[in-house]
Amino acid sequence: MKTHYDVAIIGAGVIGAAIARKLSSYELDVVLVDKEADVSFGTSKANSGIVHGGFHSPAKYLKTKLEVRGNLMFDQLQKELDFPFRRCGILVVAFREEELQAIETLYRQGIDNGAFGLELCGRERLLHLEPKLHPDVIGGLHAANGGIIEPYRFVFALVESARKNGVELLLNFKVQSASHADGLHTIVAGDGRAVKARFIINAAGIHADDISAVFNAESFHITARKGEEFLLDRESKAYPGKVIFPVPSANSKGILVIPTVDGTLMVGPTAVETEDKGDLATTARNLEDVFNFARKLIPSISERDIITSFAGLRPAMLPDNDFHIDISRMAPNLIQVAGIQSPGLTAAPAIADYVKDLLKQCDCRLVEKKNYDPYLPKVSGLRHLSIHEAAEAQAENPLYGNVICRCENISEAEIVEAIRRGHHTLDGIKFFTRAGMGRCQGGFCSYRIIKIIMRETGMGYHEVTKRGGGSYLLADRLGPSTPATEA
Ligand SMILES: Cc1cc2nc3c(=O)[nH]c(=O)nc-3n(C[C@H](O)[C@H](O)[C@H](O)COP(=O)(O)OP(=O)(O)OC[C@H]3O[C@@H](n4cnc5c(N)ncnc54)[C@H](O)[C@@H]3O)c2cc1C
Repeated sequence: MKTHYDVAIIGAGVIGAAIARKLSSYELDVVLVDKEADVSFGTSKANSGIVHGGFHSPAKYLKTKLEVRGNLMFDQLQKELDFPFRRCGILVVAFREEELQAIETLYRQGIDNGAFGLELCGRERLLHLEPKLHPDVIGGLHAANGGIIEPYRFVFALVESARKNGVELLLNFKVQSASHADGLHTIVAGDGRAVKARFIINAAGIHADDISAVFNAESFHITARKGEEFLLDRESKAYPGKVIFPVPSANSKGILVIPTVDGTLMVGPTAVETEDKGDLATTARNLEDVFNFARKLIPSISERDIITSFAGLRPAMLPDNDFHIDISRMAPNLIQVAGIQSPGLTAAPAIADYVKDLLKQCDCRLVEKKNYDPYLPKVSGLRHLSIHEAAEAQAENPLYGNVICRCENISEAEIVEAIRRGHHTLDGIKFFTRAGMGRCQGGFCSYRIIKIIMRETGMGYHEVTKRGGGSYLLADRLGPSTPATEA
């Protein structure tokens, strides 16, 4: 591990990851640090996965400009990084005359913002675009530019690309203190590891206010706005072809019906402020309201198809609800990237460009790398292969013949690939491969994956965790263990 860098980025969510990848195209020594055992373990793993269409908020907001710019960057990014993304389109649907005016406002707002692919629709057109909609729909907005993405795979790909181009990643590195001398910041982790860097990027999500305090920089408060989502089985008859939004309220985009890019279905999210930044609990309390609301959009939605629920925390900076991305006026060479609530996922690539320009303003020399390689090798997933392709893959690598996760059809080859790419926790492997994300939620495959982790890494069973830290999966009742071999 080096100790001196040009830039240290704190936080390996989608924002830190996009910035790290952008900076990896310049002749800079960059380190990306995160307190968790893997990247994307914060808000970036627990969201709706929508690439928004640039019409929900007015042009005066920084978040709007970056949303519109970010949206346009996804096709090229997908070509380079091979993550699951589809421009399936978005519908905002109205059921009452007075809602039609709000639809018109969204349309005009989107046009003013420079969003493309927007269309005002009457009832027939809407039902043609999405036959599963409630027949009482009277009109709406179609945003052909909207899309869906697997958010954690996007972050994994950004980080992998950044690392391929020289960025160093330090995990389990919880920044606890910092000092500044001779033009260099020193950041120190809870376990005593320290790195020095000239420039610091604060991309710590809901903890951006705590990190700002560590640097004696601006005092602000990040409010965690919790969103609960329900995930429905891929067998659900309600799976729509497009993301379905209701007409938004003043505070929220409302409860949505979201087809995931991998064929399951999401309903949510709620929006409730919480003081507890660790509050990721899901409750049955909201379930009835959420599903009653969702059924007004698509009547065939059923609670019986729920396979799990999860919660994420939006890092909101109130009262203006905008992104705050700026050079600190108080701490030298610190760039604050705070208040990145929705549409942070959509805006992430544009935020990375914006931060690069701020670094330039701080006299950071940006010389393009001659050998920068934006491309990542494709990962072949068994579930995407035809029978013939699967047979070929198996002939080359017999591990493709062993299906580990039956619900999502994930082979041992993919689990091993995830481990080789640095994902050593059950959740890291789940988010990389989808093993454990299907109907049985890991009931069948978790034990088999644990054994493969042990075999590939040499860890004992008592060392394997769900998501790092103390989240051990098996108790060490029998004393020291030896690595297992897969049967
Ligand atoms: C329910 C929900 C739905 C959403 N849906 C969408 C959507 O559909 N489309 C969209 O565009 N946006 C959406 N968003 C918003 C989007 O998810 C966020 O804007 C984005 O994920 C924020 O990314 P981030 O990198 O800033 O934060 P995070 O992903 O939380 O990353 C911050 C990282 O900082 C690390 N960190 C914190 N403190 C420290 C420390 N002391 N030391 C080291 N590391 C530290 C954390 O571990 C974390 O990994 C949604 C959000 C929620 C909650």
